[in-house]
Amino acid sequence: MLLDAPGAPLREADVAEPEPGPGQLLVRVRACAVCRTDLHVADGELPEPKLPLVLGHQIVGEVVGQGRRVGIPWLAWADGECRYCRSGRENLCVRALFTGYRVDGGYAEYAAADERFCLELPGAYGDVEAAPLLCAGLIGYRALRLAGDPERLGLYGFGSSAHLIAQVARWEGRRVFAFTRAGDEEGQRFARELGAEWAGASGEAPPEELDAAILFAPAGELVPAALRVLAPGGTVVCAGIHMSDIPSFPYELLWEERSVRSVANLTRRDGEEFLALAPQVPVRTVVEELPLAQANEALERLRSGRVRGSLVLVP
Ligand SMILES: [Zn+2]
Ligand SMILES: [Zn+2]
Repeated sequence: MLLDAPGAPLREADVAEPEPGPGQLLVRVRACAVCRTDLHVADGELPEPKLPLVLGHQIVGEVVGQGRRVGIPWLAWADGECRYCRSGRENLCVRALFTGYRVDGGYAEYAAADERFCLELPGAYGDVEAAPLLCAGLIGYRALRLAGDPERLGLYGFGSSAHLIAQVARWEGRRVFAFTRAGDEEGQRFARELGAEWAGASGEAPPEELDAAILFAPAGELVPAALRVLAPGGTVVCAGIHMSDIPSFPYELLWEERSVRSVANLTRRDGEEFLALAPQVPVRTVVEELPLAQANEALERLRSGRVRGSLVLVP
């Protein structure tokens, strides 16, 4: 499924199999989960995508000729030599390449990937169940680590990422408060099923102050909204790659050592840590499988919020 230009629907096309370069694996795609970042790329909200492009960066596949299973995540390549790579921050690499954005991804039958950036997947998960771990789970995990050590954790936007990381947070003994779009009672019920002790609309005040909040919804107005319900010393973590502008807000919302920060990309170490942790919890991925040819429908459903858990495309 090809993106010819931002804003255009994806087009079903027959293209040549990717030719793996030195150090790359040719992978037969078995499943590829849909991420909100795919929507931002398709809509032209991220600059200079490769075009035409195959979207998708939560790829589970089988290495052609070897039969073993690998996961292909968002970080496709980092140079290993810039100041960020040399300090354990390859997620900020100045020359990084990203799957399904700057290189072709997994909305396809085959993908090529640098072996050093592929991840080993826990055997306890089927292909479709494992796919959302690769970004929704992994970015959620990095966001949770950067949230500090909160007792009371707010999750804004209870979608693919929040439904996974809520389970990790509960397992770690944290209390989870979930925020959805106003009127999304189905989403609030889903959050309570996964361990949230309270669920409400994003403008509402939870019954207690929060020690941290992770924003998965790409709406800038949630930043001051989350700060407003944050205890002194608390952190707001913006976990998405794109967000609408943040409205100005009075300094008193930030005062008392509250902080606002973002999470960018992932390191291979995040991947290894989270994929080792997921089967211990165990994190249960709630997935809905769609045929690859319905990728446009999947993106539309994500846009309008009509998803329970994660959508996964299967060629
Ligand atoms: Zn680098
Ligand atoms: Zn993603």
